[in-house]
Amino acid sequence: MTFHLLTIFPDFFQGPFNHGVVARAVKSGLLEIKVHDLRAWTKDFHKTVDDRPFGGGEGMVMKPEPLFEAVEAIWPRRDPARQRIVLMSAQGPLFDQRTAHRLSGYEEVLLICGRYEGVDERVGEYLADEEISIGDYVLSGGELAAAVVVDSTGRLMPGVLGNEDSARRESFSEAGSAPGLLDCPHYTRPADFRGWRVPEALLGGNHAAIEKWRREAAREKTRRLRPDLLARAAAGSGGTDQESAIKKDGTEV
Ligand code: SAH
Repeated sequence: MTFHLLTIFPDFFQGPFNHGVVARAVKSGLLEIKVHDLRAWTKDFHKTVDDRPFGGGEGMVMKPEPLFEAVEAIWPRRDPARQRIVLMSAQGPLFDQRTAHRLSGYEEVLLICGRYEGVDERVGEYLADEEISIGDYVLSGGELAAAVVVDSTGRLMPGVLGNEDSARRESFSEAGSAPGLLDCPHYTRPADFRGWRVPEALLGGNHAAIEKWRREAAREKTRRLRPDLLARAAAGSGGTDQESAIKKDGTEV
């Protein structure tokens, strides 16, 4: 799978993907991460990517031309079934594990990183397939959000996690032994740390007992920390994934 990151700060991505699982996946060729400097698609001496907002007001807005031209240069003939364009935006539907799974089904995902007051609305409307927010707060740019999407989506690709089981059991997973629940608590040595003992069931080596404890502990932890997940599972709703959203023209996606 290939991720394209379109940004005015290409150096931003020097760090985030150089560690752990994602770095290994890049090294082994399972993942490819291409960072594109948006200014390469400007035509003026100052490499201008922003301009003043129509109607006045604070701040600058990212111009549409370099963004459209960049995407058209990266994918001269785009195949929407294999290639997805995502605009990072504080206003998009919230990113979650379902969205990560869905995006991992594309061969290539291109993430547009906004800056300033945001991006000319026509980019969201006529260039991007969807907008994604990583949370209800405003970041100063889309790069951090895009890194979150690449990391959480990339690690779902077959072979990226050494142990395929860990992706199935983990929090927010829809498959596996405890769908829709948080992951169970994990412990390592020492079995007694400052008087706090690891639950007995985990120390015994009885696999059925361990499995039972993990299921119950995951449920208890979910109830305590994220009761909304249990309520959602009970209501049978599938979260915030854009698949169930309404498209711009009003039809169901
Ligand atoms: N004026 C906008 C915020 C612009 S912040 C508003 O009030 O909605 C500048 C850029 O940062 C955005 O264009 C977007 O690309 C990125 N960004 C900010 N918050 C984000 C979030 N929660 N998720 C994803 N991207 C975000």
